[in-house]
Amino acid sequence: MYLAVYWPLWIIFVWTYVMVVTTSPGEVKKLIPAAERPPEEPASQRRDSESARSIYYRPPDAAREAGEGDVAEDAAADEAEAVGAFGPVLGGLAVSAAPVDASQEPSLAASSSAPLDPPEHVQTIRPTRSEAHSERTDVEKAEPALERRPPTTPILDPYYRWCRRCERVKPYRAHHCRHCGTCVLGMDHHCPWVGHCVGSRNLRYFNQFLWWASTYCVFVLIVTAIDLFPPGGGRDLDGQELALLVVAGLFAFFTLGMVGTHIPLLLTNTSTIEAMAAAHKRERENYRLARAFPWYDCKSRSTVRRRWDDEWGHFRTEANLWWLGSPRANFEAAMGKSKLGWFLPIPIRDGRDGLNYPVNPRFTSDGVQRPREHWPAELR
Ligand SMILES: [Zn+2]
Ligand SMILES: [Zn+2]
Repeated sequence: MYLAVYWPLWIIFVWTYVMVVTTSPGEVKKLIPAAERPPEEPASQRRDSESARSIYYRPPDAAREAGEGDVAEDAAADEAEAVGAFGPVLGGLAVSAAPVDASQEPSLAASSSAPLDPPEHVQTIRPTRSEAHSERTDVEKAEPALERRPPTTPILDPYYRWCRRCERVKPYRAHHCRHCGTCVLGMDHHCPWVGHCVGSRNLRYFNQFLWWASTYCVFVLIVTAIDLFPPGGGRDLDGQELALLVVAGLFAFFTLGMVGTHIPLLLTNTSTIEAMAAAHKRERENYRLARAFPWYDCKSRSTVRRRWDDEWGHFRTEANLWWLGSPRANFEAAMGKSKLGWFLPIPIRDGRDGLNYPVNPRFTSDGVQRPREHWPAELR
């Protein structure tokens, strides 16, 4: 009875592991020819993002005087992070730049660790201090609002998707992995257990591996525990079985933790790297709210957050660049439509190559977030 369950579990567990190890995540170097870095599209021609930018852009000085001391640092960090999120990835972590003071903006590239050149237009659209003063409206002066400030860098512009190590324009969602020495399609993370990256082409196998590995470990854990401590008692402790119990318990804990973190990612069409960038932004917002309101004033904090979400959308869903409209659509984007294919590591043909991804229509075509009032009418 025990073996009738054990062996099928073991076979599927090993099968998924073999599939994830032998399937390349999609190496950009092998798929895309080398090219020169594309020129940056002049800001004047980028009407899409310019219009989005003008809506929520606030001069750093205006905001600072309005009581938002970190606005410049936040904005600079946002810009750099947006670039960094698509820049090289070191050890599975997205590189983000150190906060830069607004007064040192021209030296943004020199002082930050962002791997790419500075987004020049960002400097050009920022008014000087005197302009900032003259442009402030009476409403702004009278009513300093605590605003959400999404990054304004058009991160999907080929200029910002250039990898200087691979000398190629990265497809959407690709990141550079220094362990693999190439950009990886739809990179999730570099997995030492697998020996290479988890990316768009082996993400399904990786998730299946997690599910079956955790099922296998939990099964071994339960069976060993029952055998070691039978309900009636009266059995001598077996050292070998006790060791198995501990090892199975550790692996069950680890793999269940991974399952618990990856299922929400599947349902929101988010990679581990993207989730970390989103969490970083969220932390900065929390910090701003914590400075604006005393610790016991949870109500005000949640009111402001709700207002922000009303204006921009929730960061996991509408304000997620890769959100496809529903958890089911997101799940199927990674796991396919075939229910058998969800659980078994069988190859499926669904036409997806990891090179192209639909962009959330709530963003501009070059990846700048827009407020709700500028979303397509049917999505508002
Ligand atoms: Zn690269
Ligand atoms: Zn890698």
